[in-house]
Amino acid sequence: MTRVMYIAVSSITIVRPKEGNYLRGFADIVLNEQLVIHGLKIIATERPNGLFVAFPHKKVHFSCPFCRALAVYDAVYCARCGKEISHCQPKFDRQKNERPQRDIIHPIYSPLRILIEKAVFEAYWRELSLGQESGLSSPEQ
Ligand SMILES: [Zn+2]
Repeated sequence: MTRVMYIAVSSITIVRPKEGNYLRGFADIVLNEQLVIHGLKIIATERPNGLFVAFPHKKVHFSCPFCRALAVYDAVYCARCGKEISHCQPKFDRQKNERPQRDIIHPIYSPLRILIEKAVFEAYWRELSLGQESGLSSPEQ
């Protein structure tokens, strides 16, 4: 097993949506100048600092029972045959932590999550203050 003893945030790019209720922004983060993670989401929550970083995930697919084409979970109609498939969706047991998404990448080690979150929040707040200084409107105003 290979162990990485030191992980540092090399750079972060923040993109803010034009509109958004809970979605406050997207972040791309480079670690150790060697690995880039695209599509982190900055989400507004009830947490003390009001923000949460969601790591990239993809929706679960399932086969259309009529034509066997792959369909995205929560689709109402099959994109190939057009038949209604909302009643054929796979069931997820939230009690067993089953979800209609699969993580693509996420930190296993809690201090790494904290490092990434802190860096993303700082870059986000910096982006917000730059927007206010230049007179650009922001969703928080
Ligand atoms: Zn179909």
